[in-house]
Amino acid sequence: MDFGFSDEEASIQASVRRFGNEFLRPRERMIDEGDQIPRDVASEMGRIGILAMPVPEAYGGMGASAAQTELVAEEIGRADTSMATAVFFLLEAGWGYLLSKYGTEAARKEVLPPVTRGEHFLGIASTEPGGGSDIAGEQTLSWRDGDDFVLQGEKAFISGVIEARDWGGGHLTITRQRDGKGMNLLYVPTRTQGVTVGRFKNMGRMGISTGSLTYDEARVPARYLIGTEGRGLPMSLEGFTVARTFVAAACVGAAERALEIGKEYVKVRQVFGKPLGKYEGIQFELADLHAEIEAVKWQCRKAAWLVDQRLFSGKSSHDSEVDLAVAAVKLMAPELAFDTFKKVMMWHGASGYTKDVGLEMGLRGVTSYLVGAEGGLNVMRLIMARELLGKEFLPYR
Ligand SMILES: Cc1cc2nc3c(=O)[nH]c(=O)nc-3n(C[C@H](O)[C@H](O)[C@H](O)COP(=O)(O)OP(=O)(O)OC[C@H]3O[C@@H](n4cnc5c(N)ncnc54)[C@H](O)[C@@H]3O)c2cc1C
Repeated sequence: MDFGFSDEEASIQASVRRFGNEFLRPRERMIDEGDQIPRDVASEMGRIGILAMPVPEAYGGMGASAAQTELVAEEIGRADTSMATAVFFLLEAGWGYLLSKYGTEAARKEVLPPVTRGEHFLGIASTEPGGGSDIAGEQTLSWRDGDDFVLQGEKAFISGVIEARDWGGGHLTITRQRDGKGMNLLYVPTRTQGVTVGRFKNMGRMGISTGSLTYDEARVPARYLIGTEGRGLPMSLEGFTVARTFVAAACVGAAERALEIGKEYVKVRQVFGKPLGKYEGIQFELADLHAEIEAVKWQCRKAAWLVDQRLFSGKSSHDSEVDLAVAAVKLMAPELAFDTFKKVMMWHGASGYTKDVGLEMGLRGVTSYLVGAEGGLNVMRLIMARELLGKEFLPYR
């Protein structure tokens, strides 16, 4: 067993921390107050090579491992606690990985290089107005028509719809085959005729757009089918497993940042004639948070290691141990980040409630992962129960 980093991992972590401190952190508030990912953020991430980093070099990526990508996600979450940049990073990494693994050669060559350069956007369109937890129940239809697939339906709460429309790019889109024979995962460029974009106003992570996509007989070429016709569901689930690993890592990074802010504050803030940090009530909370963050961080790194061993290695597309480990960190990390921001805000008193300190930004950002983004917390519990008790205990079987 070895808990150290390789030279390459240490160097990636150091260079992305530098990028985070010098480039992202000064723009964090500006990103939070914007309404989409700033183009200079995307192009700088592309320039330093971290966009869709697991994608093989042949398609513009760096062929990074899940463990390396996890370390970068931690750093991005630490640098921009609004979570907007973290979402952007993990969508490109998770779904870029999936397209590079199962997409046609023509789609890989066409779609991935501009994504890795930060010129085009790549996202996932799964959730619908009728619900998101039940992925197998999605109602958007697709059917084959000659050399094309045609789509009809609507997706909702989708990240990056405005970026994909304005910059170019699109979403891997989960659809049901019209003949009832399974599901298709299709890459749908947002500028396709018959695709309409709508926009929602969120309470947090506003620096990346969220909206709807409506398909009115939208037509995409058959080369945009990901994997085999009718087998889109298992591939989509693999994509979610990979992306959730990086969600959890970004939340750990954000929690670490909140605790750093808290540590600095309690050393200097005087209350009843002493620094706040001299009181046990604060010290014990600080110690508990540190212990919990360390525990979840190492669970995230272990989950990423398992993803490398089983999924990135190509050995399998689904693995029980991976599902259990990833669902556990996607369950714990957002709650821990939320709890850390909340407690550190309490230590700050009234100043924590202002926009000057920035804790509210983190609190709003990580909340997106509590309510549902990349799967709600109860869905993580369902996945874990399925692995711990067996499929026959799933409530909907
Ligand atoms: C900011 C943001 C960005 C998003 N970006 C995307 C995106 O890019 N692409 C995309 O496809 N989706 C996206 N989503 C949607 C997200 O995937 C869904 O919110 C999520 O899948 C849950 O779906 P839902 O919101 O429809 O809730 P529902 O499915 O209606 O579930 C409601 C609640 O019930 C819980 N629940 C579900 N099943 C059970 C059960 N059996 N027992 C107990 N509780 C249960 C859920 O955890 C949830 O808390 C985003 C969401 C947010 C908030």
